[in-house]
Amino acid sequence: MQTNFTEAQLANPEIAVANDILRTCVHCGFCTATCPTFVTLGDELDSPRGRIYLIKDMLENNRPAAEEEVLHIDRCLSCLSCMTTCPSGVNYMHLVDHARVHIENTYRRPLADRFLRNALAKILPYPKRMRAALALARLGKPFAFLLPGQTMFFRRLRAMLNLAPEKLPPPQSLGGTVHKAAGETKGRVALLAGCAQQAIAPSINNATISLLNRLGIEVVIPAAAGCCGALAHHMGRHADALAAARRNVAAWSAEKLDAIIVNTSGCGTVLKDYGFLLRNDAMAAQAAEISAKTKDISEYLLKIYEPTQPSPGVKVAYHAACSLQHGQQISAPPKLLLRKAGLTVVEPKDPHLCCGSAGTYNIMQPEIASALRRRKLDTLKAKSPDVIAAGNIGCLTQLAGDGIPTIHIVELLDWMAGGAKPAALSIRHSRASGDLLEEPLN
Ligand code: SF4
Ligand code: SF4
Repeated sequence: MQTNFTEAQLANPEIAVANDILRTCVHCGFCTATCPTFVTLGDELDSPRGRIYLIKDMLENNRPAAEEEVLHIDRCLSCLSCMTTCPSGVNYMHLVDHARVHIENTYRRPLADRFLRNALAKILPYPKRMRAALALARLGKPFAFLLPGQTMFFRRLRAMLNLAPEKLPPPQSLGGTVHKAAGETKGRVALLAGCAQQAIAPSINNATISLLNRLGIEVVIPAAAGCCGALAHHMGRHADALAAARRNVAAWSAEKLDAIIVNTSGCGTVLKDYGFLLRNDAMAAQAAEISAKTKDISEYLLKIYEPTQPSPGVKVAYHAACSLQHGQQISAPPKLLLRKAGLTVVEPKDPHLCCGSAGTYNIMQPEIASALRRRKLDTLKAKSPDVIAAGNIGCLTQLAGDGIPTIHIVELLDWMAGGAKPAALSIRHSRASGDLLEEPLN
């Protein structure tokens, strides 16, 4: 694609990167067919190619973002399915990240929008605040249907209440803890504990630590490490995202580590991009090292995992989180591990399509998220699974409450290697009816 930036514009390193990306696009349109928003809405401006044109025009003309660009770029899930499809290697992720920063810096959103985005940014990255918010949301959940559907603000509020879990698990506080390997120590890793994950499903971190320890790996969670910055990053809050990245890079660089383990693939994609995010920073070299050391839990387990339990005869529908399959290009390892653990693995039709979770997308774009959720659940349930498994808490929350338990793959792997049986395997519940049916699977 031809671009028309001036020499002065190209002197800005961010614009220079955007220019390089834009020039690799040959407008072939292959990406449109695999873009969930184009598939759902059918509008070229809600396709990767359409968004690329919008971003190009906005940046080349060096003008503030307009309502049309904000509408279509906000609708992008950042699922990165387009990057997997693109034959030219267009780095859409860095382009849309840059566009989001430009929007944040130049566009004044309506008051209700600003209020909600600020509230999410002040709550979600902090597990204690998140837990308190979830407790409140659970109280409001039975009355969510009373919220008027005419305005987007109330529809978003309703979506937020509907996402609150039926039960709130005990609080988890892992910062500053070290978990020794059982027997001989064969490795030492840091675990990114995740923000929402600690509040919604602490069992995922417990299973990760217990499994790694039994495999001879010491796990450390430095007190100074915290939120990965993904939420701020995807909202275009560049300074906040950089601050989070610097804090984590400093915390992990102070430890002697073989790897930084991530069991929330949405966060993993951002950690693996710290090297790029901080490329012009004093911490650039350290950030690149941390990115290189970052491993999704499925990647790390591939060489060391050994099941010890007999096959339980459970059929698992594997849902590939976009951040894992597109953001990190990790597709086979989770399925190989589940099969090695003795579980039957099935996959839905169109596994490349997003479930609609995408960070705060299921709150901010409730209609599109809901359509994608329904589509994903229908294709998963068509395989008649006992359980739906994924490697990302966002997807698990999005797909929960439709009669099939949702569970992180690491909980299944831990169970099959001598760990506790996941509690979710004993409960089927319905989001629609609110019924909670105790129904053991095995
Ligand atoms: S597939 Fe790649 S090169 Fe083709 S239009 Fe999409 S982004 Fe551009
Ligand atoms: S990131 Fe996903 S939603 Fe956004 S343009 Fe690419 S495929 Fe479409």
